[in-house]
Amino acid sequence: MKLTVNFGQLHHCVQLMGAEEADFELGLAFKDIDPIDAALRDGQELGKDIDLTEIEHSKGVLSYMGRQVMLYIPDQGSNILEVLRNGEEGRRIHIAECSSLEHMRATGRFPRYQVTADTSGYLPVYGINSDNNQSIDDKKAKLFVCKNCITTLNYQGYAIKSGAEKRDIFINFNLAKFFKHYSSYFKSLPKPSGSEKSASYTPDWKEISARLKKQSNYMCEQCGVDLDSEKKLLHVHHVDGVKSNNQNSNLRVLCADCHKKQPHHDHLYIKASDVLTINRLRREQHKFDNTTYNQLIGCADTALEGLLLKCKSSRLPIAELGIAVQYEHTSVSFDLCWPRKKVAVLIDMRNEMLVKKHGWTVFSATQALEQFQDFQRYVR
Ligand SMILES: [Zn+2]
Ligand SMILES: [Zn+2]
Ligand SMILES: [Zn+2]
Repeated sequence: MKLTVNFGQLHHCVQLMGAEEADFELGLAFKDIDPIDAALRDGQELGKDIDLTEIEHSKGVLSYMGRQVMLYIPDQGSNILEVLRNGEEGRRIHIAECSSLEHMRATGRFPRYQVTADTSGYLPVYGINSDNNQSIDDKKAKLFVCKNCITTLNYQGYAIKSGAEKRDIFINFNLAKFFKHYSSYFKSLPKPSGSEKSASYTPDWKEISARLKKQSNYMCEQCGVDLDSEKKLLHVHHVDGVKSNNQNSNLRVLCADCHKKQPHHDHLYIKASDVLTINRLRREQHKFDNTTYNQLIGCADTALEGLLLKCKSSRLPIAELGIAVQYEHTSVSFDLCWPRKKVAVLIDMRNEMLVKKHGWTVFSATQALEQFQDFQRYVR
């Protein structure tokens, strides 16, 4: 259910009273109630084998009813004891539409997969002990990510790295971090099971954060963007992660995008449209110095990192961020574009046709990676 409530009058009263406007967030508390989210997070069976047609993959990463999910096969067969000792021996977790999944679709072996959004990496497994033919059930194993999946997405540059660097990305792969990377594709992110409940902010937190934002003139301390016109995109961050430590030295006023990119912020969910707004303002306010791909990666939506690393290694001309066009009374913000070549990359493809009609060549980030040879011909 979507509620549309106009708080204009309330804000007006707040102003009349001379009080400070404080942020509040609707909806967060209600997320947990959704039975699908709860089942996905806790790795429960959803009551049936998931049909292949119900798993969406048009954006490259997998989703089920609008939620980012993973697929894996719990049945480890006679390998189960090995898998419990060392998860690397187990069947892999799929996070993207990779060549293995395509093959499974083609051979009709897809229904053996279980869908889950449990980002702990410890997933229910079962099998048969081949020594005594006893079935082994009710166990969890630390399973590893599918290498074809991270190649497809060029996650952290996996596809273009070699040797020890590749191994590092694979071994240290963290599902929660991965979900955050692609959060802008989804309406809600799962919380890991057993995560801290409500963070312990002090009762005066609203006043403290409102005062700090005002003192900073509503500018991000990191990238310098002025969010006076979009105050809800300005956050106050606790450097040490302790929500009750409100010492000045522990607090930083950051835009939502810079905040999301701080360490240990795997569960901070920022909408793609908010990143676009911040980049549009950074551009208007000349807060960009994107002359290298590394700088560009620092400002772009994290879901585009794989593509940007590929562009960098292929020495493509630098892309622009924060450009919006207006056609037929509709404003379209490009996640990336090469204006002189009229090539754009969109995360939200809703306006693809409109933009194409006006002479742009449009790719989704996944299409650009999949059809990279084509893509780079347009960009060069
Ligand atoms: Zn895979
Ligand atoms: Zn910032
Ligand atoms: Zn923070």
